[in-house]
Amino acid sequence: MLSKVILQANIDKVETYFNRAERLVIVTHVSPDGDALGSSLGLFHFLAEQGKDVRVIVPNAFPDFLRWMPGSKDIVRYDKYKEFADRLIAEAEVICCLDFNALSRIDAMADAVRQAAGRKVMVDHHLNPEPFCKVTISHPEISSTSELIFRLICRMGCFDDITREGAECIYTGMMTDTGGFTYNSNDRQIYFIIGELLSKGIDKDEIYRKVFNTYSEGRLRLMGYMLYEKMQVFPQFRSALIWLTKEEQGRFHSVKGDTEGFVNMPLQMKGICFSVFFREDTEKKMIKVSLRSVGAFPCNRVAEEFFNGGGHLNASGGEFYGTMDEAIALFKQALVKYEADLLKN
Ligand code: 5GP
Ligand code: MN
Repeated sequence: MLSKVILQANIDKVETYFNRAERLVIVTHVSPDGDALGSSLGLFHFLAEQGKDVRVIVPNAFPDFLRWMPGSKDIVRYDKYKEFADRLIAEAEVICCLDFNALSRIDAMADAVRQAAGRKVMVDHHLNPEPFCKVTISHPEISSTSELIFRLICRMGCFDDITREGAECIYTGMMTDTGGFTYNSNDRQIYFIIGELLSKGIDKDEIYRKVFNTYSEGRLRLMGYMLYEKMQVFPQFRSALIWLTKEEQGRFHSVKGDTEGFVNMPLQMKGICFSVFFREDTEKKMIKVSLRSVGAFPCNRVAEEFFNGGGHLNASGGEFYGTMDEAIALFKQALVKYEADLLKN
Protein backbone atom coordinates (compact mmCIF):
# COMPACT_ATOMS: atom_id res chain seq x y z
CA MET A 1 0.00 0.00 0.00
CA LEU A 2 1.17 3.48 -0.79
CA SER A 3 1.14 6.18 1.86
CA LYS A 4 -0.84 9.26 0.95
CA VAL A 5 1.92 11.87 0.50
CA ILE A 6 -0.17 14.37 -1.54
CA LEU A 7 -2.78 16.35 0.42
CA GLN A 8 -6.35 15.25 -0.21
CA ALA A 9 -7.44 18.86 -0.82
CA ASN A 10 -4.91 19.15 -3.65
CA ILE A 11 -6.02 15.85 -5.19
CA ASP A 12 -9.63 17.07 -5.13
CA LYS A 13 -8.77 20.37 -6.78
CA VAL A 14 -6.67 18.82 -9.51
CA GLU A 15 -9.36 16.24 -10.18
CA THR A 16 -11.95 19.01 -10.58
CA TYR A 17 -9.66 21.02 -12.87
CA PHE A 18 -8.96 17.98 -15.02
CA ASN A 19 -12.62 16.99 -15.21
CA ARG A 20 -13.71 20.47 -16.29
CA ALA A 21 -10.97 21.05 -18.84
CA GLU A 22 -10.96 20.08 -22.48
CA ARG A 23 -7.64 21.62 -23.43
CA LEU A 24 -4.56 21.24 -21.26
CA VAL A 25 -0.86 21.85 -21.64
CA ILE A 26 2.04 20.35 -19.75
CA VAL A 27 5.24 22.37 -19.47
CA THR A 28 8.60 21.42 -18.02
CA HIS A 29 12.05 22.87 -17.43
CA VAL A 30 14.75 23.94 -19.86
CA SER A 31 17.00 21.16 -21.19
CA PRO A 32 14.51 18.54 -20.04
CA ASP A 33 15.98 15.45 -18.43
CA GLY A 34 14.53 11.98 -17.96
CA ASP A 35 12.30 13.00 -15.07
CA ALA A 36 11.08 16.19 -16.77
CA LEU A 37 10.04 14.20 -19.85
CA GLY A 38 9.00 11.11 -17.90
CA SER A 39 6.59 13.02 -15.68
CA SER A 40 5.30 15.17 -18.56
CA LEU A 41 4.73 12.27 -20.93
CA GLY A 42 3.38 10.09 -18.11
CA LEU A 43 0.71 12.68 -17.40
CA PHE A 44 0.23 13.29 -21.13
CA HIS A 45 -0.63 9.62 -21.80
CA PHE A 46 -3.03 9.59 -18.87
CA LEU A 47 -4.88 12.74 -19.98
CA ALA A 48 -4.92 11.61 -23.61
CA GLU A 49 -6.44 8.31 -22.43
CA GLN A 50 -9.17 10.39 -20.78
CA GLY A 51 -9.94 11.93 -24.18
CA LYS A 52 -8.40 15.31 -23.42
CA ASP A 53 -6.78 17.64 -25.92
CA VAL A 54 -3.34 17.76 -24.29
CA ARG A 55 0.11 18.90 -25.41
CA VAL A 56 3.56 18.79 -23.86
CA ILE A 57 5.63 21.95 -24.46
CA VAL A 58 9.34 22.15 -23.63
CA PRO A 59 11.63 25.21 -23.80
CA ASN A 60 14.32 23.60 -25.97
CA ALA A 61 15.90 20.37 -27.21
CA PHE A 62 16.12 17.19 -25.17
CA PRO A 63 18.81 14.51 -25.38
CA ASP A 64 18.80 11.83 -28.05
CA PHE A 65 18.71 9.00 -25.51
CA LEU A 66 15.18 10.07 -24.52
CA ARG A 67 13.85 10.28 -28.06
CA TRP A 68 12.46 6.73 -27.93
CA MET A 69 9.97 7.71 -25.23
CA PRO A 70 6.38 7.14 -26.35
CA GLY A 71 4.79 10.49 -27.19
CA SER A 72 8.09 12.34 -27.54
CA LYS A 73 7.49 12.97 -31.25
CA ASP A 74 4.45 15.09 -30.44
CA ILE A 75 6.29 17.34 -27.98
CA VAL A 76 6.24 21.01 -29.03
CA ARG A 77 9.56 22.83 -28.74
CA TYR A 78 9.09 26.45 -27.70
CA ASP A 79 12.37 27.60 -29.29
CA LYS A 80 11.19 26.25 -32.66
CA TYR A 81 7.43 26.86 -32.64
CA LYS A 82 6.99 29.85 -30.36
CA GLU A 83 3.79 31.23 -31.93
CA PHE A 84 2.06 27.87 -31.94
CA ALA A 85 3.15 27.17 -28.38
CA ASP A 86 2.09 30.64 -27.20
CA ARG A 87 -1.38 29.98 -28.58
CA LEU A 88 -1.60 26.56 -26.91
CA ILE A 89 -0.53 28.06 -23.57
CA ALA A 90 -2.93 31.01 -23.84
CA GLU A 91 -5.88 28.78 -24.77
CA ALA A 92 -5.28 26.01 -22.24
CA GLU A 93 -7.74 25.74 -19.38
CA VAL A 94 -5.16 23.97 -17.24
CA ILE A 95 -1.38 24.36 -17.33
CA CYS A 96 0.55 21.61 -15.56
CA CYS A 97 4.02 22.74 -14.48
CA LEU A 98 6.10 19.64 -13.90
CA ASP A 99 9.55 19.13 -12.37
CA PHE A 100 10.34 22.81 -11.79
CA ASN A 101 9.72 25.20 -8.93
CA ALA A 102 10.25 28.67 -10.45
CA LEU A 103 9.25 30.34 -13.70
CA SER A 104 12.90 31.21 -14.38
CA ARG A 105 13.47 27.46 -14.97
CA ILE A 106 11.37 27.54 -18.16
CA ASP A 107 13.43 30.34 -19.75
CA ALA A 108 11.72 32.06 -22.66
CA MET A 109 8.38 30.39 -21.88
CA ALA A 110 8.09 32.14 -18.51
CA ASP A 111 6.14 35.19 -19.74
CA ALA A 112 3.62 33.15 -21.68
CA VAL A 113 2.95 30.88 -18.69
CA ARG A 114 2.85 33.77 -16.20
CA GLN A 115 0.27 35.65 -18.27
CA ALA A 116 -1.87 32.65 -19.17
CA ALA A 117 -5.38 32.60 -17.75
CA GLY A 118 -5.55 28.82 -17.35
CA ARG A 119 -5.40 27.23 -13.91
CA LYS A 120 -1.83 26.33 -13.06
CA VAL A 121 -0.90 23.18 -11.21
CA MET A 122 2.65 22.50 -10.05
CA VAL A 123 3.85 18.97 -9.43
CA ASP A 124 7.47 19.04 -8.39
CA HIS A 125 10.12 17.84 -5.94
CA HIS A 126 12.52 20.81 -5.76
CA LEU A 127 12.88 22.83 -2.58
CA ASN A 128 11.19 26.21 -2.10
CA PRO A 129 8.48 26.33 -4.79
CA GLU A 130 7.57 29.84 -5.93
CA PRO A 131 3.88 30.71 -5.55
CA PHE A 132 2.82 31.07 -9.20
CA CYS A 133 0.38 28.16 -9.30
CA LYS A 134 -3.18 27.75 -8.06
CA VAL A 135 -2.31 24.32 -6.74
CA THR A 136 1.23 23.50 -5.62
CA ILE A 137 2.06 19.85 -5.10
CA SER A 138 5.65 20.07 -3.95
CA HIS A 139 7.39 17.13 -2.27
CA PRO A 140 11.19 17.40 -2.03
CA GLU A 141 11.24 14.15 -0.05
CA ILE A 142 10.06 12.23 -3.12
CA SER A 143 12.91 11.32 -5.47
CA SER A 144 11.20 12.08 -8.77
CA THR A 145 8.33 14.10 -10.17
CA SER A 146 7.43 11.02 -12.18
CA GLU A 147 6.72 9.16 -8.94
CA LEU A 148 4.47 12.05 -7.86
CA ILE A 149 2.55 11.77 -11.15
CA PHE A 150 2.01 8.07 -10.49
CA ARG A 151 0.78 8.87 -7.00
CA LEU A 152 -1.49 11.64 -8.27
CA ILE A 153 -3.12 9.43 -10.89
CA CYS A 154 -3.63 6.60 -8.39
CA ARG A 155 -5.09 8.91 -5.78
CA MET A 156 -7.63 10.09 -8.34
CA GLY A 157 -8.63 6.44 -8.59
CA CYS A 158 -7.35 6.07 -12.13
CA PHE A 159 -4.62 3.42 -11.94
CA ASP A 160 -6.48 1.52 -14.66
CA ASP A 161 -6.03 4.45 -17.04
CA ILE A 162 -2.24 4.21 -16.91
CA THR A 163 -1.27 2.63 -20.22
CA ARG A 164 1.91 0.72 -20.91
CA GLU A 165 3.26 3.79 -22.72
CA GLY A 166 2.49 5.98 -19.72
CA ALA A 167 4.06 3.45 -17.37
CA GLU A 168 7.25 3.41 -19.48
CA CYS A 169 7.54 7.19 -19.19
CA ILE A 170 6.92 7.22 -15.44
CA TYR A 171 9.45 4.44 -14.91
CA THR A 172 12.05 6.31 -16.99
CA GLY A 173 11.73 9.41 -14.82
CA MET A 174 11.97 7.42 -11.59
CA MET A 175 15.01 5.60 -12.91
CA THR A 176 16.93 8.61 -14.23
CA ASP A 177 16.41 10.84 -11.18
CA THR A 178 17.83 8.14 -8.93
CA GLY A 179 20.75 7.17 -11.18
CA GLY A 180 19.18 3.79 -11.90
CA PHE A 181 18.04 3.47 -8.26
CA THR A 182 21.50 4.07 -6.83
CA TYR A 183 20.78 7.30 -4.89
CA ASN A 184 17.70 8.90 -3.29
CA SER A 185 16.21 5.48 -3.64
CA ASN A 186 15.89 3.90 -0.20
CA ASP A 187 12.15 4.45 0.08
CA ARG A 188 10.63 0.99 -0.23
CA GLN A 189 7.48 2.42 -1.82
CA ILE A 190 9.56 3.11 -4.93
CA TYR A 191 9.79 -0.66 -5.40
CA PHE A 192 6.11 -1.15 -4.78
CA ILE A 193 5.44 1.38 -7.56
CA ILE A 194 7.90 -0.38 -9.87
CA GLY A 195 5.92 -3.57 -9.28
CA GLU A 196 2.74 -1.79 -10.29
CA LEU A 197 4.42 -0.39 -13.42
CA LEU A 198 5.67 -3.87 -14.33
CA SER A 199 2.06 -5.04 -14.18
CA LYS A 200 1.43 -2.66 -17.09
CA GLY A 201 3.87 -4.65 -19.21
CA ILE A 202 6.93 -2.41 -19.15
CA ASP A 203 10.33 -3.97 -19.84
CA LYS A 204 12.52 -2.24 -17.26
CA ASP A 205 15.72 -3.90 -18.44
CA GLU A 206 15.13 -2.65 -21.97
CA ILE A 207 14.37 0.86 -20.70
CA TYR A 208 17.68 0.84 -18.81
CA ARG A 209 19.55 -0.13 -21.99
CA LYS A 210 17.74 2.44 -24.10
CA VAL A 211 18.60 5.24 -21.67
CA PHE A 212 22.04 4.33 -20.40
CA ASN A 213 23.62 2.19 -23.12
CA THR A 214 23.01 4.15 -26.31
CA TYR A 215 25.87 6.59 -26.26
CA SER A 216 27.85 7.67 -29.28
CA GLU A 217 31.50 6.85 -29.87
CA GLY A 218 32.19 10.57 -29.44
CA ARG A 219 30.76 10.56 -25.93
CA LEU A 220 32.97 7.70 -24.79
CA ARG A 221 36.09 9.26 -26.29
CA LEU A 222 35.22 12.64 -24.80
CA MET A 223 34.73 10.94 -21.44
CA GLY A 224 38.14 9.28 -21.72
CA TYR A 225 39.80 12.56 -22.67
CA MET A 226 38.06 14.43 -19.90
CA LEU A 227 38.99 11.92 -17.18
CA TYR A 228 42.58 11.71 -18.37
CA GLU A 229 43.29 15.34 -19.15
CA LYS A 230 40.66 17.50 -17.51
CA MET A 231 39.95 16.14 -14.08
CA GLN A 232 41.58 17.86 -11.16
CA VAL A 233 41.39 16.10 -7.82
CA PHE A 234 41.66 17.94 -4.51
CA PRO A 235 42.04 15.10 -2.00
CA GLN A 236 42.62 17.55 0.85
CA PHE A 237 39.08 18.84 0.22
CA ARG A 238 37.64 15.44 -0.80
CA SER A 239 36.61 17.15 -4.05
CA ALA A 240 37.15 16.99 -7.79
CA LEU A 241 36.63 19.36 -10.69
CA ILE A 242 36.19 18.62 -14.39
CA TRP A 243 35.71 21.15 -17.16
CA LEU A 244 35.24 21.25 -20.91
CA THR A 245 35.47 24.15 -23.32
CA LYS A 246 33.37 24.65 -26.41
CA GLU A 247 36.38 23.80 -28.57
CA GLU A 248 36.87 20.47 -26.80
CA GLN A 249 33.21 19.51 -27.17
CA GLY A 250 33.47 20.35 -30.88
CA ARG A 251 36.64 18.29 -31.29
CA PHE A 252 34.76 15.18 -30.12
CA HIS A 253 31.62 16.01 -32.14
CA SER A 254 29.75 16.25 -28.87
CA VAL A 255 25.99 16.74 -29.18
CA LYS A 256 23.49 17.83 -26.58
CA GLY A 257 23.28 15.34 -23.74
CA ASP A 258 26.68 13.79 -24.47
CA THR A 259 28.15 15.15 -21.26
CA GLU A 260 25.18 14.06 -19.13
CA GLY A 261 26.35 12.12 -16.09
CA PHE A 262 30.02 13.12 -16.40
CA VAL A 263 29.75 15.05 -13.15
CA ASN A 264 28.98 11.83 -11.25
CA MET A 265 32.15 10.06 -12.33
CA PRO A 266 34.68 11.61 -9.90
CA LEU A 267 32.44 10.43 -7.05
CA GLN A 268 33.45 6.88 -7.95
CA MET A 269 36.84 7.63 -6.37
CA LYS A 270 37.27 6.58 -2.77
CA GLY A 271 37.06 9.50 -0.40
CA ILE A 272 35.61 12.01 -2.88
CA CYS A 273 32.32 13.52 -1.74
CA PHE A 274 31.96 16.64 -3.92
CA SER A 275 32.23 16.93 -7.69
CA VAL A 276 31.76 19.91 -9.98
CA PHE A 277 31.60 20.05 -13.77
CA PHE A 278 31.95 23.23 -15.82
CA ARG A 279 30.77 23.03 -19.41
CA GLU A 280 31.06 25.99 -21.72
CA ASP A 281 27.61 26.23 -23.31
CA THR A 282 27.56 25.83 -27.07
CA GLU A 283 24.55 28.10 -27.59
CA LYS A 284 24.58 30.74 -24.85
CA LYS A 285 27.59 32.69 -23.66
CA MET A 286 27.86 31.09 -20.26
CA ILE A 287 29.30 28.17 -18.37
CA LYS A 288 26.80 25.55 -17.23
CA VAL A 289 27.67 24.29 -13.79
CA SER A 290 26.70 20.86 -12.45
CA LEU A 291 27.36 19.89 -8.86
CA ARG A 292 27.04 16.55 -7.09
CA SER A 293 27.77 15.40 -3.57
CA VAL A 294 27.40 12.30 -1.46
CA GLY A 295 26.26 12.21 2.13
CA ALA A 296 25.36 15.35 4.01
CA PHE A 297 27.42 17.85 2.02
CA PRO A 298 24.95 20.41 0.57
CA CYS A 299 26.10 21.02 -3.00
CA ASN A 300 22.97 23.14 -3.57
CA ARG A 301 24.35 25.71 -1.11
CA VAL A 302 27.50 26.06 -3.20
CA ALA A 303 25.31 26.32 -6.33
CA GLU A 304 23.28 29.13 -4.74
CA GLU A 305 26.15 31.02 -3.22
CA PHE A 306 28.67 30.84 -6.05
CA PHE A 307 26.92 29.87 -9.28
CA ASN A 308 23.48 31.54 -9.49
CA GLY A 309 21.73 28.24 -9.08
CA GLY A 310 20.27 25.75 -6.68
CA GLY A 311 18.70 22.31 -6.62
CA HIS A 312 18.83 19.32 -4.36
CA LEU A 313 21.20 18.52 -1.50
CA ASN A 314 23.17 16.00 -3.59
CA ALA A 315 22.45 17.21 -7.13
CA SER A 316 22.35 20.84 -8.12
CA GLY A 317 23.25 23.18 -10.91
CA GLY A 318 23.80 26.75 -11.88
CA GLU A 319 25.23 29.13 -14.43
CA PHE A 320 28.39 31.21 -14.51
CA TYR A 321 28.90 34.28 -16.62
CA GLY A 322 32.63 34.77 -17.12
CA THR A 323 35.72 32.90 -18.28
CA MET A 324 36.63 29.31 -17.45
CA ASP A 325 39.62 30.53 -15.41
CA GLU A 326 37.33 32.72 -13.32
CA ALA A 327 34.93 29.81 -12.77
CA ILE A 328 37.80 27.58 -11.65
CA ALA A 329 39.07 30.27 -9.27
CA LEU A 330 35.58 30.58 -7.80
CA PHE A 331 35.39 26.82 -7.31
CA LYS A 332 38.64 26.93 -5.34
CA GLN A 333 37.24 29.73 -3.19
CA ALA A 334 34.19 27.57 -2.48
CA LEU A 335 36.41 24.68 -1.37
CA VAL A 336 38.21 26.90 1.10
CA LYS A 337 34.96 28.31 2.44
CA TYR A 338 33.35 24.88 2.82
CA GLU A 339 36.46 23.00 3.95
CA ALA A 340 35.04 22.13 7.37
CA ASP A 341 31.79 20.76 5.90
CA LEU A 342 33.67 18.76 3.28
CA LEU A 343 35.93 17.16 5.84
CA LYS A 344 33.26 16.32 8.40
CA ASN A 345 31.04 14.68 5.77
P1 5GP B 1 22.05 18.96 -13.79
O1 5GP B 1 23.41 19.04 -13.21
O2 5GP B 1 21.65 17.55 -14.07
O3 5GP B 1 21.86 19.88 -14.94
O4 5GP B 1 21.04 19.49 -12.69
C1 5GP B 1 20.86 18.83 -11.47
C2 5GP B 1 19.79 19.53 -10.67
O5 5GP B 1 20.25 20.83 -10.35
C3 5GP B 1 18.47 19.77 -11.39
O6 5GP B 1 17.59 18.73 -11.15
C4 5GP B 1 17.97 21.04 -10.80
O7 5GP B 1 17.33 20.77 -9.59
C5 5GP B 1 19.21 21.79 -10.43
N1 5GP B 1 19.63 22.82 -11.38
C6 5GP B 1 20.33 22.63 -12.54
N2 5GP B 1 20.59 23.79 -13.14
C7 5GP B 1 20.05 24.76 -12.35
C8 5GP B 1 20.01 26.18 -12.44
O8 5GP B 1 20.52 26.81 -13.36
N3 5GP B 1 19.33 26.83 -11.44
C9 5GP B 1 18.78 26.16 -10.39
N4 5GP B 1 18.15 26.87 -9.44
N5 5GP B 1 18.82 24.83 -10.29
C10 5GP B 1 19.44 24.13 -11.24
MN1 MN C 1 13.19 15.68 -11.25
